[in-house]
Amino acid sequence: MTRPQQTPLWGLITCPDCGNNEKFFEVADNIVSTTLFTQNSDGSFIQEESAKQTPGSVRLFCAVCDADLTAFHTRFSEMIF
Ligand SMILES: [Zn+2]
Repeated sequence: MTRPQQTPLWGLITCPDCGNNEKFFEVADNIVSTTLFTQNSDGSFIQEESAKQTPGSVRLFCAVCDADLTAFHTRFSEMIF
């Protein structure tokens, strides 16, 4: 039993070169990763929270043929849940 596929409002992001619409990878330059730790009385640490900032450019690529899909990146980031 498979549910009928929902058609997204804007259609799927599809690689214009190979037609891939499943696998993508994001490449971020200059990631700044900040992680907050709390030290316990026994000297161990607990990770409280971490934040990542990407002051550099973020690019999107097709994971099948490596085509540059950065033009779709804004839409891509809006669809990550
Ligand atoms: Zn592709």
